Amino acid sequence: MFVPLDKKEELSKKLKNLRCQGRRLSFSWDFSNCPYCGNCKEEYHTLNNSEIHFRNIDSSKSKAVKDISKSWLEFLLNNCKRNKKLFYFKIDYIELNKMNMEHFGFEQAVESVYNRFFRSNILGGSKYFFNRNYNKIVINNIYHDRSDSKENHEYFPWHTGYKINADHHKKVSVSNKDIFFLDSDHKYYFDKKPDFRYESQFIQLIDLILGTVRQNIYYSSKDSFKNEISMIIRPLLKSLLENEKNSYSHRYRRYSSISFFPKTSEMDKEKLFIENYLEDTRGRYYDSKKIQMPEFAVKQTRLDYFN
Ligand SMILES: [Zn+2]
Repeated sequence: MFVPLDKKEELSKKLKNLRCQGRRLSFSWDFSNCPYCGNCKEEYHTLNNSEIHFRNIDSSKSKAVKDISKSWLEFLLNNCKRNKKLFYFKIDYIELNKMNMEHFGFEQAVESVYNRFFRSNILGGSKYFFNRNYNKIVINNIYHDRSDSKENHEYFPWHTGYKINADHHKKVSVSNKDIFFLDSDHKYYFDKKPDFRYESQFIQLIDLILGTVRQNIYYSSKDSFKNEISMIIRPLLKSLLENEKNSYSHRYRRYSSISFFPKTSEMDKEKLFIENYLEDTRGRYYDSKKIQMPEFAVKQTRLDYFN
C-alpha cells in the first residue's frame, strides 16, 4: 500500500473515525473523550477500538468489528470516486508451485523470493501509480507487519531500500532504507514513543484487503460473514481480474493492481535474481484470474410484523 505523505493524516483520521459506528462523525481513542459520551457505553467504545484482523473476523465476532470492517471496505471502493486518492495498493501473488525451488532450503528460499518480490512490488507500484504525474518519486519510509523471520533476516530489514538506491533508478529513491516493523494492534502504541498507532491501522487495512481479495479468488473459508464482507470489494475484483466493464473500471485501476507470477507454467527460481528480470514486466506476470468464491446475496430483510 502506498500513501502519499500529504494524504497520510487524512487517511489516518478517516480510518479512525469510521470506528465510531454511532453517527460516524468522530471517534476518540479513549472513552473519556468520546464525543457521544451520553449515548456511548464504555464496553462498546472499547470494542470499536479493536484490532481489525481478517483471519479473526468470522460470524462469531462482535458487531463492532464487523461493522468497522464493512465501513473500511466501502471506504476503499469509494476511494476511486475521489479526485485525490488517499492510498494505492498493489498485490503480487507468487505461485510457488510453479517455481523450481528444489535446490534451495525451502524456508530460506521463500524468504529470499519474498525479499526479491518485495522490492519489485515497491518499485513496480511506485512507477505504475505515480509515473504519469511525477518526475521524482521519493519513498520516505517503508513499514512492514511484525515478523520474526523477516526482522531477524540477514538482509531483508534494509536490503530493499539499499538496493533501489544502489541501482540509481531514474525516478525512484528511498530516504530511509531501514524498514519499520509494526505491531498490527494500534493500541500497543498508546503509551509508546514513537507512536505508530496510525501506521498500525494501515497494517490492519492492508490485512483486510489481502484477506478479502484472497477469499474472493481462492474461496479459502466457508464462513458466512467472510463471504459477506468479501462481496463488498467484488466490483473492483471483477474489473481487475475478470475484465468486467463497469462505470468505475478505469478508476479502480488508477489506485489498485493485482498480478500473479509467473505467467509461464514453470519457472526457474534463479531467473528471479537476474538483474531487472522482474522489473521488466512484459510477459512475466499475468492479471486475469477466475474468482472462485460464488456470489453471495448480502442478507437483508424487511418485515411487517403483526401479533
Ligand atoms: Zn464512544
